[in-house]
Parts: sequence; C-alpha cells; structure tokens
Amino acid sequence: WHRWIYDDCYRSYLLPLEKYGLTIPHDLVEEAWNRITTKGYVHEVARFFATGWPVNYWRIDAMTDTDFEWFEEKYPGWYNKFGKWWENYNRLAYPGKNKPIAFEDVDYEYPHRCWTCMVPCLIREDMVTDKVDGQWRTYCSETCAWTDKVASRLEYEGRPTPNMGRLTGFREWETLHHGKDLADIITDLGYVRDDGKTLIA
Ligand SMILES: [Zn+2]
Repeated sequence: WHRWIYDDCYRSYLLPLEKYGLTIPHDLVEEAWNRITTKGYVHEVARFFATGWPVNYWRIDAMTDTDFEWFEEKYPGWYNKFGKWWENYNRLAYPGKNKPIAFEDVDYEYPHRCWTCMVPCLIREDMVTDKVDGQWRTYCSETCAWTDKVASRLEYEGRPTPNMGRLTGFREWETLHHGKDLADIITDLGYVRDDGKTLIA
C-alpha cells in the first residue's frame, strides 16, 4: 500500500504535475495513507463487499485460522475490530442453514453510499452529508464532498469550466435498484446459474 500511494500515485504521477503549475494536495496523500493504516479503510471495504455477496458475481471465501493469524500479524488490532464479524461470516457460510449474512443480525449497519466515488461511507467520522442540487447526498469524506460541490461545476474559482465532468443521474447501486424485489435484482443482473436456483457467487 505504501508503494502504491507514495511511489505510484504521488511520486510518479502527482509530483511531476507540480512543475506544470498544478496545485498538488500533499496533505491528501498523507490522508490516503492514514485512511488505510489508521482508519482501517481497506478492511471496511472488504467487509462491505463480503456482506453483499448475493448481489455480486464473486464471493470471498470463509477464513481459515491461518488467515485470521495473517491479518492480525499484518494489521495488529484487526481481530478486535473485524474478527467477530468474520467469525460470523464463517458461521453463516453454509447454504440452507441461514440467510446470507447481509440479512442476519451480525451487528453491522449497511452504510450510506458516497455520491462521488460510489464506495460506501465506511469511515464514520469522515462522512459528510449535504443538500446539493436539491438532493440530500452523502460523501465518504470532505474530499469527495468538495469534488461534487466545488470542482465538478460549471465554474471553478471564477473561471468557466464547461468541459468539467458532472456527477449527475442514477449514480449509486441503491438508487438504481430502489423499490425492486431482491430476487428480481439478482435475476436481472444475471447472477443465477443455469439450474435456475443457485447463485454464481
Ligand atoms: Zn467518496
């Protein structure tokens, strides 16, 4: 992760742009690293997508003891925060015995979706809520709120920016499928095998 953020993204991509006069948000690079290391972002993302496996075409396997040990060794404190949920994930991995984990009570609240990056708002203390374009929107961070509210507009700092992208329309999964029956969503996505009853994940 360190190489990805500091070498790939920062040193070889962002920093060279500085000499062309662009303002590089150095503090955001630090925050990207902070979100991964201190705030557990990657583990939150993994748990979110593992929760939603019935509406995906893939599913993360239940973890073995070796996996649990690996995570705790790599990320000290991981077990305290995520271990119990993954124990539940293992317990609920057997078809026919229970509902998918998303529909069982495992002390997990379905998060709001970030309007900008469309990853859910997984770091609670970073979440931003605001009424934008007449619509209540949630953002995973101040940075994503800024991207929608300030940057992706017709004007930026007094200059017209007609070619700037706009974050509009039916953006998130939850809006796209709102009000539909879960069985229809899964069928429409093509996630049922030829036998008509088994999911592909
Ligand atoms: Zn975001």
